[in-house]
Amino acid sequence: MSKNNNLKEEALNYHAKGRPGKIEVIPSKEYANQRDLSLAYSPGVAEPCLAIQANPDDAYKYTAKGNLVAVISNGTAVLGLGDIGAMAGKPVMEGKGLLFKIYADIDVFDIELNTKDVDEFVRTVKIMEPTFGGINLEDISAPECFEIEERLKKELNIPVMHDDQHGTAIISAASLLNALSLVEKDIEKVKIIINGAGASAISCTRLYSALGAKRENIFMFDSKGLIHPSRTNLDGKKIEFANDKLDASTTLAEAMAGADVFIGLSKGNILTQDMVRAMAKDCIVFALANPTPEISYELAMEARPDIIMATGRSDYPNQVNNVLGFPYIFRGALDVRSSEINEEMKLAAVRALADLAKKPVPDIVNMAYGENNLTFGKTYIIPKPVDPRLLTTVAPAVAKAAMETGVAKYEIKDWDAYELQLSK
Ligand code: NAP
Ligand code: MG
Repeated sequence: MSKNNNLKEEALNYHAKGRPGKIEVIPSKEYANQRDLSLAYSPGVAEPCLAIQANPDDAYKYTAKGNLVAVISNGTAVLGLGDIGAMAGKPVMEGKGLLFKIYADIDVFDIELNTKDVDEFVRTVKIMEPTFGGINLEDISAPECFEIEERLKKELNIPVMHDDQHGTAIISAASLLNALSLVEKDIEKVKIIINGAGASAISCTRLYSALGAKRENIFMFDSKGLIHPSRTNLDGKKIEFANDKLDASTTLAEAMAGADVFIGLSKGNILTQDMVRAMAKDCIVFALANPTPEISYELAMEARPDIIMATGRSDYPNQVNNVLGFPYIFRGALDVRSSEINEEMKLAAVRALADLAKKPVPDIVNMAYGENNLTFGKTYIIPKPVDPRLLTTVAPAVAKAAMETGVAKYEIKDWDAYELQLSK
């Protein structure tokens, strides 16, 4: 049997065995006798109800709200599978719930909404606000994802993040900062090619700009070519990155000449070895299209001995993996009852991730990857997902940023105690 057939069968069995699916609900209080039940439900339950009615913030004290995130999708851009529909996307959303739980002990209700209508989507999520401490939007296609997130951020008082946009931006930005520091290049001076102009590319490019990348040095391509002011077929978000420093007809191959950084958020196998060879010395290539990168790791390494290469895949070094971000970003946001996830909180996550990669790697991480000496360098620019320090560094950094920017409703005073509590 081929490797793919094996995986297919194993994956289907994994999901079907025992109780189907990947998550379940477990009571968090005792329920052994009648007394317990009269506290858990009627008549005792009326007391927390009344307390919350009098003081809505008590919902964080008496209910699961403060540790409960909704992973919400309409199934229009699921993984690399595309528009497969709300129900077909459910395994992915349950999987995200599993990751939230194992990495940050956050409980998740996965919610699959059967609608492509932006108003209906927004209204539905809006009326669910009382239930949740945060909303993780997931796998919603562009351009609707932009409007949905913008409106929900404005209209809700709990953190909302579309992970496909911002998670990717945060992890790739941390990787980019570290790659640039290794080759001693200044983010304000580098020439950056962004291939792809969809949900993730737009958000990544905005974050790189916030970190100092200059718009005039950034050249973005979509499936039709360079994003240029003379283009008449650019939708809303793309126009923000129109750059006239090159001719409208410039091809990707031409733009790659002398480029310092290539970020691929498009599709597989569109970057050639010659294009990589044409880049500047010590070039940085993040070929993030999943599951097939814009250029394979092997071809890129063969083309350039001086390259720093990252992909979205776990089977090569430098995996840009969103799981390095979302569990800890929401953990930090929830723990200070933040009303949003703002730019400063995202930048705090970027810096925390970038700094962590520069620290000595614990044995447990080396062992998990069959390595004995992972050290900050060209093949280790970003922490590994199994690193237990992610929780105790990224979450506090995000929580602090929330407090400093005045969006936290709860103040953490003893940071050592907080970190200790996280690591338990
Ligand atoms: P998306 O919103 O559908 O955007 C895809 C973009 O790629 C579109 O702008 C499209 O152009 C462009 N494109 C397609 N073919 C192209 C070509 N030959 N040359 C230049 N641009 C081309 O998708 P997304 O959510 O941003 O994801 C894009 C890719 O990145 C996917 O493969 C996804 O798996 C990957 N990704 C990886 C990570 C990760 O590694 N952690 C995270 C997020 C996304 P048009 O606008 O003209 O259609
Ligand atoms: Mg996703």
